[in-house]
Amino acid sequence: MKGTLFENQIQEYGDIFQKDNVYQISNAPLEPVHPKYKDRDGDCSIRFGGQTMVQPIATEVTPNKVQYVPLASVSYESGPDDRYGLVLFISDIRTRITETGIEHSIRDISVIDHSTTVQMTISIWNDLTDIKDPKLLSWNTEPVIAAFLGLRVTTTRGFILSSSLSTTIDTNPTGEEFVAFHDWVMANFEELENKMTQLVDTKNPAAEKSILTIQQILDKKQEIHWVKVKIPEPDQARLISYEGCNKCGKRVDLPLNKSMTCPKCFKLDCTSVPRTTFKFDAVDETGELSLTTFAEDCEKLFKLPIIQIFEQTNIGTLDFGSISRDLSSNEFYVAVGPSYMLTKKQALSWVLKDVSWT
Ligand SMILES: [Zn+2]
Repeated sequence: MKGTLFENQIQEYGDIFQKDNVYQISNAPLEPVHPKYKDRDGDCSIRFGGQTMVQPIATEVTPNKVQYVPLASVSYESGPDDRYGLVLFISDIRTRITETGIEHSIRDISVIDHSTTVQMTISIWNDLTDIKDPKLLSWNTEPVIAAFLGLRVTTTRGFILSSSLSTTIDTNPTGEEFVAFHDWVMANFEELENKMTQLVDTKNPAAEKSILTIQQILDKKQEIHWVKVKIPEPDQARLISYEGCNKCGKRVDLPLNKSMTCPKCFKLDCTSVPRTTFKFDAVDETGELSLTTFAEDCEKLFKLPIIQIFEQTNIGTLDFGSISRDLSSNEFYVAVGPSYMLTKKQALSWVLKDVSWT
């Protein structure tokens, strides 16, 4: 649970609270978190007021030792838990507006540790996106090892780690595991630096895309790369539109724009939204890749808003003929990366990360 001190409360209470100490707090009402600052269901916050009493409780309890979990161990059952890694990339702030009109700021941080060859994305939300830590700010000039405490897992578009209300980022973590991890980073630095450069190239849309062939990426078996492809035979039967949960993306049996408690992810305050998947085989001169696009990438591929793809598919007015001619005669770019996470038996499959016509 989170409490926020405002203005003169910072002086009044700020010096009392010390990390790892235990306090009894009385006369501090609990209230629901304001939707603007909310990033999960069922959160309350502590309101400090004039009547609030804070008393330290003397304890013999030694500080809780953080239990770090390797990045590769992400699963549906994960979280909230603590992870660390080398920061490979930090995105600019983007904003996301929820169905209820509330604006959130989000940054994606790509990190890697010794447990995986593929970086993981940690999305940090709202207050955390305003990075003040000088180490974190200079991630692209000095390697920075950061610990992320209190992360949760979201599964809307593959596995992503997200910040929660209690998440903190520590760029000066101490402990045996960090001595060992630092050694691992140094021992593999050249390879890690390459990953960093590639990520910057991939994620920076203004930068020149470095294009590989399908055969080259199949040989590489890692990283995210752009390939230039066509779809020789787009198949309308492989385009599916359905009503899905806005949080987990799974199909729900409800008309659009209905509020619901999702029967698939069990989250409260979900909405049924249009979802589409389109499966296709992309080719270049060297080979073929089977890929699936979801919502936003479908929009880019078809150059149509998802609501129109959804409605026109349902009433049968979608002009798939001209979409098909476009996809089969004009080359476009897809960013693809390996996915170890969603396949059984660790089989390597390729997932689409982005689509671009330019
Ligand atoms: Zn859901």
